[in-house]
Amino acid sequence: MRSMVGVVEAAVCASLCGGGAVMVYGVRGRSATVFAPSVYRGPANQHALALTFDDGPSEATLDLLEVLSFEQVPATFFHCGANVRRLPEIAREVQRRGHEIGNHSDTHPRFYFRQPQFIREELTRAQETIAATTGIPPALFRAPFGIRWPGMRAAQNKLHLLGVMWSVIGRDWKLDAASIVQRILRRVDNGAIVCLHDGRELEPRPAVEPTIEAVRRLIPLLKAQGYRFETVSQLICQTN
Ligand SMILES: [Zn+2]
Repeated sequence: MRSMVGVVEAAVCASLCGGGAVMVYGVRGRSATVFAPSVYRGPANQHALALTFDDGPSEATLDLLEVLSFEQVPATFFHCGANVRRLPEIAREVQRRGHEIGNHSDTHPRFYFRQPQFIREELTRAQETIAATTGIPPALFRAPFGIRWPGMRAAQNKLHLLGVMWSVIGRDWKLDAASIVQRILRRVDNGAIVCLHDGRELEPRPAVEPTIEAVRRLIPLLKAQGYRFETVSQLICQTN
């Protein structure tokens, strides 16, 4: 499914402009800032990393919060507005436990070929929902599927949102817990932003147990390597 999406994107982008490679990079490249301001990792001189969870809140988020509380690890959750409206109490619990909540759009659409107004409305609706539910407007935005598109920069600027991609992706929507752990351990380094999922787009009761089990195993292993865990805002705004 994902690889198919990748092929389709490459094709549409290549047909859209002659410089297809540049276009694909601008839309999906993790360090691209062609269409919107974006970061994908923290400083390399800090032995710290950020765990991020997309597509929540879901019914499984509370189980993940228990793991994070037990380990006393802060994380960053990129929530969809529609999921927050479905499960507002869970979003509030994420907030109460000291985690950061970012904007992951309202309904998790693919943004390519969308009008700037559609993009603006998606980001704005999620921003307003999260702010009204938790009391705090997000400072961070992660584009669904990592797809950036013209119009996103203006929408982010209007809402004062910094884009956040990732340096490590867990592929946790298809791997088992052991494989997720192995994959992340092989790829993390100083300043890593790790992308995982506590939801599946807008699906109710998503099967994200492998992710939660992977996080349960992963945190002690990363602690043993001396890593410090921070929210994305802490990681990219080092004051020490
Ligand atoms: Zn997502």
